[in-house]
Amino acid sequence: MKKVALIAHDQKKQQIIDFVKRNQSLFAQCELVATGTTGRLIEQECKIPVQRMQSGPFGGDQQIGALVSTDEIEMVIFLRDPLTAQPHEPDVTALLRVCDVHNVPLATNLATAEMLIKALREQIESNIKAC
Ligand code: PGA
Repeated sequence: MKKVALIAHDQKKQQIIDFVKRNQSLFAQCELVATGTTGRLIEQECKIPVQRMQSGPFGGDQQIGALVSTDEIEMVIFLRDPLTAQPHEPDVTALLRVCDVHNVPLATNLATAEMLIKALREQIESNIKAC
């Protein structure tokens, strides 16, 4: 199975932790990759292993973008804070673009993330049935 990528801007970090906790049993069956701080917090708070990239402002978004471009990412959940200017906004925009280029699903808010996770759960359940 491909990886699920998780990223949250600072004002959204608690939201992504709560989201992973709510879906812990599902995420425990996935390989997770995240930007540095988001990944560290998820590992600490949710006790789930996460492959940690650089922190966002140090290039983590771009590292995840590279994985998207090599077809290693199933979906990206990127809880963005639209109300705060991000120092690495060009990287954020580049990640959104590469997801569109490669037709990789990307959620930028919690409502869309919940829908993607629903689809992921169904996909995992149908894979289990097929085995
Ligand atoms: P962080 O990066 O998880 O390292 O804080 C996220 C971001 O700001 O893009």
